[in-house]
Amino acid sequence: MELRLYDTLSKEKRTFVPLDANDVRMYVCGPTVYDFAHIGNARPVIVFDVLFRLLRHLYGEAHVKYVRNITDVDDKINDRAARDFPGLPLNEAIREVTEQTGQQFHADVDALGALRPSVEPRATEHIAEMREIIDRLVAGGFAYVAEDHVLFSPQAMNAANSVLPRYGALSNRSLDEMVAGARVDVAPYKRGNTDFVLWKPSKPGEPSWPSPAGIAAQGRPGWHVECSAMAWKHLGEYFDIHGGGIDLVFPHHENEVAQTCCAFHRERMANYWMHNGFLQVESEKMSKSLGNFTTIHELLKDWPGEVLRLNMLKTHYRSPIDWTMKSLEESKRTLDDWYRVAADVAPGQPAASVVEPLLDDLNTSLAIAALHSLRNSDVSALAGSLRLLGFFSESAAQWEGRKQQATGVDASEIDRLIAERAAARARKDFKESDRIRDELVAKGVVLKDGKDAAGKPVTTWELA
Ligand code: AMP
Ligand code: ZN
Repeated sequence: MELRLYDTLSKEKRTFVPLDANDVRMYVCGPTVYDFAHIGNARPVIVFDVLFRLLRHLYGEAHVKYVRNITDVDDKINDRAARDFPGLPLNEAIREVTEQTGQQFHADVDALGALRPSVEPRATEHIAEMREIIDRLVAGGFAYVAEDHVLFSPQAMNAANSVLPRYGALSNRSLDEMVAGARVDVAPYKRGNTDFVLWKPSKPGEPSWPSPAGIAAQGRPGWHVECSAMAWKHLGEYFDIHGGGIDLVFPHHENEVAQTCCAFHRERMANYWMHNGFLQVESEKMSKSLGNFTTIHELLKDWPGEVLRLNMLKTHYRSPIDWTMKSLEESKRTLDDWYRVAADVAPGQPAASVVEPLLDDLNTSLAIAALHSLRNSDVSALAGSLRLLGFFSESAAQWEGRKQQATGVDASEIDRLIAERAAARARKDFKESDRIRDELVAKGVVLKDGKDAAGKPVTTWELA
């Protein structure tokens, strides 16, 4: 069966045909590293990790390249650096913020079972590529210099008579309407009110680099051109899949397409544009002011990362998702059960009933329904399918051990008490053996006496 993906640009599901089956290329916009990532940010990470795994399954691990950038130059980073490290020179403070936040991001997404992308480029390491794209855009008449800024003109793009796509095609907007509806207090150096910044001057103390387009003053890049530059460097002028959250379609992705297509005289930047829907928490938009802002880091204190992963994948990636405590508890019970019955089983091939819905535009909710059926029919296929989806990174014992840690029960202490009880029973001191059993019951631990294969008495335990 073939893979079909919904493409935001053509607004339909299309059969996925890689440009080069030996080198399948995907770019996903990554985090701006100034603060802990929230659970909404985890959605593209998990969704595109599933796609990365599926592509590797279909084309071979060595033939898929996944690039997810780190945006480490941004006003929010500068503000955070000045606030958190007032004693340091701004550039050093910025390095502190981006390094700490970057490490935290990795710890969080590793715990979610997400594979590291093939490349994780940093914006500050691709300034030369940004300058080159900007120079090409100025030379081509798509961008101009004004007051030490370089601005891109969507109107110049749409006036060009060439292969270029129409500005506004990805986000399904008309440039004329954008022009008519634009704010009136547009910066005076802009020729058109929809022109956007490719490069701007740095304020004293801010990170700065030599400018493109013959500008003498030092400056720094605009956000959109960062992704055009990093995608170009690592995936080329034209590649297979570009992804991100639905909020990025406009202006970020519209502007990426404009920059890349105009710089390289291309009709397209990516063959498929994929966008995940938004996440809200307990039916409300997540926001700091509503007090329901939930970081991945906080959630991982209460839930194993795989529970967060399963909970995310229960909803199809293009639908909005309502993140609730009730659903998390359900996801936890499901994984407890799957770990118990299948984590230590030799994994078989992923089941067709799981792979087929994934091939249909990543229908993870149907795939999960199929997993529930396999639970009662074929645990070996259940194990193989769960591994394909990025689950079962632990053994059943590790999962169980984590559960006991979470409930405050120390497994080695229980084992010690069970051994003492066995010794008491062996010397027929039933008063003592009953006392130990009662002590364990008080801890919420239930003992089960049985025999092993050789007929020797064994005691196992579980939490009540
Ligand atoms: P940001 O750091 O805000 O640029 O976001 C990083 C990624 O997370 C982008 O792909 C966003 O589209 C995505 N994202 C941010 N908030 C949410 C949300 N509430 N639900 C789903 N995706 C989100
Ligand atoms: Zn981007």
